Amino acid sequence: MRIVVLAGGIGGARFLRGLKRAAPDADVTVIGNTGDDIHLFGLKVCPDLDTVMYTLGGGINEEQGWGRADETFHLKEELTAYGVGPDWFGLGDRDFATHIVRTQMLSAGYPLSAVTEALCDRWKPGVRLIPMSDDRIETHVAVTLPDSGATPDSGERKAIHFQEYWVRLRASVPAEAVVPVGAEQAKPAPGVLEAIAEADVVLFPPSNPVVSIGTILAVPGIREGIADAGVPVVGLSPIVGDAPVRGMADKVLAAVGVESTAAAVAEHYGSGLLDGWLVDTVDAGSVERVEAAGIRCRAVPLMMTDLDAAARMAREALTLAEEVRGA
Ligand code: GDP
Ligand code: CA
Repeated sequence: MRIVVLAGGIGGARFLRGLKRAAPDADVTVIGNTGDDIHLFGLKVCPDLDTVMYTLGGGINEEQGWGRADETFHLKEELTAYGVGPDWFGLGDRDFATHIVRTQMLSAGYPLSAVTEALCDRWKPGVRLIPMSDDRIETHVAVTLPDSGATPDSGERKAIHFQEYWVRLRASVPAEAVVPVGAEQAKPAPGVLEAIAEADVVLFPPSNPVVSIGTILAVPGIREGIADAGVPVVGLSPIVGDAPVRGMADKVLAAVGVESTAAAVAEHYGSGLLDGWLVDTVDAGSVERVEAAGIRCRAVPLMMTDLDAAARMAREALTLAEEVRGA
């Protein structure tokens, strides 16, 4: 079975680990979000690709869900001692090595997809991990900074990098718009459209619907490719009990006018794209609303408390895909 998964960071990576357990013989291609990518200290950092690679490759910091296990921060401390920032983005010593190798290869002319493949030679994630595009796409968030007078730009409306919004500001001000800058001119990376066309099923893990899956779908050709593939497309809700399980997805959902409920996210994807949707058992009351929108829906436990729980979710998603296919 050939499975294509569109993945962000933590939610995508943990689900993928469950999927590998649930379908060990499947051929899994992961299309990774690169809208969160950022240049720091002259290095290209790809947080979502790395979270998938480290999680599936056994190098992740389990408690945190991102970054390396057994990490130290000497390099960052030294940079801070020189007054060189930003200090709000956590980059550990082990993690730095990944970004150095990536940046070196990019500077030598390799596309990001080839670089990602090379990094995966070490981590052996057991899936084929492809960035959504080799072209630079950067998610920006329009905000009005609080008028505190504390900094020269307070009170100003401006667009900031997604990481600045998410990590530095911790989504503390409303997101007025979310824009994947560069997406319109971008092309899917080599292998992305081919994998979609050859897939038996396409899965949307419980990743952020706006800044992870939404950004991937913004690359011209990907949404159309999925809709036209004629295979079951099944998603799992990242919203449980009207709130994101982790993080601040509600803030970016508000920016695109979508309420923070499992049903609203399904409707946001729409029946033109999505065939099946899993909501958590606490949201069983929304099954009817999702089905009324033309999307087959089931309520099952959706908390990835451990690997077994994630594997059960993956099995449910594949079962729903079979139901859709048989319908
Ligand atoms: P990010 O790039 O690290 O933010 O990760 P993703 O976009 O892949 O996933 C973030 C989303 O995963 C958040 O909106 C969370 O609500 C969701 N999430 C995290 N853990 C769980 C879980 O155990 N169950 C469900 N249903 N969603 C989860
Ligand atoms: Ca992310």
